Amino acid sequence: MPADGTDYTAQLESLLEQAHAKGVRDPRVLQAMRQTPRHLFVPESHRLYAYIDHALPIGEGQTISQPSLVGQMTQLLELTGNENVLEIGTGSGYQTAILRRLCGRLTTIERFPRLTLQALRNLQPLNLPPITFVIGDGTCGFPPYAPYDRILVTAGAPPKVPQPLLDQLSPDGGKLLLPFGSRQYQRLTRITKHGTRLRAKIFGECMFVPLVGKYGWKSEELEG
Ligand code: SAM
Repeated sequence: MPADGTDYTAQLESLLEQAHAKGVRDPRVLQAMRQTPRHLFVPESHRLYAYIDHALPIGEGQTISQPSLVGQMTQLLELTGNENVLEIGTGSGYQTAILRRLCGRLTTIERFPRLTLQALRNLQPLNLPPITFVIGDGTCGFPPYAPYDRILVTAGAPPKVPQPLLDQLSPDGGKLLLPFGSRQYQRLTRITKHGTRLRAKIFGECMFVPLVGKYGWKSEELEG
């Protein structure tokens, strides 16, 4: 039983059933979600709602993503266990934990230092293999560990895909998954790179907090 005395097992299983009903069918992804109790990533003020399939506030005006969407995005990355992965938008660390169970190497970038510190605290009880945490502008990628087999952007990008992310994607079938479009809603898009050729596939609409940075939305564009 967790330290706060609540047994969340039944709620977690019910959440997994909802994720399954919404298309998360990969047993490895479902197992990674099962091993990642979401209440560890939700602020105490909202812990009651940790197993409801909704995004929730985590501070700095940001959110922990909707769990079924986290599952769907992870599934779309088609991870086999060995990939070098870059995540942009650490947030609470919830998606980070799930990714780390399914890939070979993980680097995650967050623009708010306070969220990175909080994510480090949230992840501690899970004893996961090493993860590289970077505080900075993820729209510039992270060149030291490029090329990446997979890049996952967990914030809504403007209509032009950040060029550094395309440049840092492996030409050997690398996949970049990102929501991009307008401020109000985005299209979940997967771009696959073979050599210099890029192919995009769209997987439906979603709503994310904005990707803010040099190759993302500018802070001024978001005011008002
Ligand atoms: N996947 C996270 C989780 O499960 O908690 C939620 C991520 S939240 C929807 C999006 C995150 O992207 C926010 O924490 C936000 O601060 C971050 N973000 C936005 N623009 C960024 C940028 N240019 N570089 C790094 N992080 C950024």
